[in-house]
Amino acid sequence: MNKIKNIKFWIFDLDNTLYPSSTNLFAKIDKLMASFITKHLNVSTEEAILIKNDYFKKHGTTLNGLIKNHNIDPYQFLEFVHDIDYSFLNKNTKLNKEIKNLPGKKIIFTNGSRKHAKNVVSNLELDEDLFSIFDIVDSDFVPKPEKSPYEKLIKKYDIIPEQSLFFEDIARNLKPAHDLGMRTAWVINEDNWAKEGHDGVHVHFKIKQLDDFLEQCNLLIN
Ligand SMILES: [Mg+2]
Repeated sequence: MNKIKNIKFWIFDLDNTLYPSSTNLFAKIDKLMASFITKHLNVSTEEAILIKNDYFKKHGTTLNGLIKNHNIDPYQFLEFVHDIDYSFLNKNTKLNKEIKNLPGKKIIFTNGSRKHAKNVVSNLELDEDLFSIFDIVDSDFVPKPEKSPYEKLIKKYDIIPEQSLFFEDIARNLKPAHDLGMRTAWVINEDNWAKEGHDGVHVHFKIKQLDDFLEQCNLLIN
């Protein structure tokens, strides 16, 4: 925990990180991804799920696989899969307070779209001006865990990796952050696709509850 004192850049994944996977919000997006594939590739739902999971594994995101293999329009895909009801995401006053109290810069780093990030932030009732948002368009549609979006992120915000802490629920996405010198925190997600590799040296902290962890950080720093 000692190295927390030096942190000046707080970087957050969005889905299943700023809100818990138990909300099932991401499951709804996941379902829409399968439905998009069914329509656009003209396959059955079962096949669509297989394709979705296979692309996620091989290409970092389903979208990236669809772009590479089927020349899908990414904007059309993002509009479609984020057309969900956000209203059941509960406001998180504690999370807002703790993020606000952290010293330094806060950034959302997501494989999703800016619009989706803003919807999540506003439904959690987090102050929108707390964060900069670095989305999949900023990454030129190259997703985590490819190295280039991390490098672009670092460049864009003049991040000093050794003074940054990255929170993410997909354990493999922490590897490039660690390799570039960042501190990393795995927000525990028990889904198999998320926890693969969580025992590696690239995972520095394992946390159950983001707001509780940030509270501890604030107690240590302030
Ligand atoms: Mg996530």
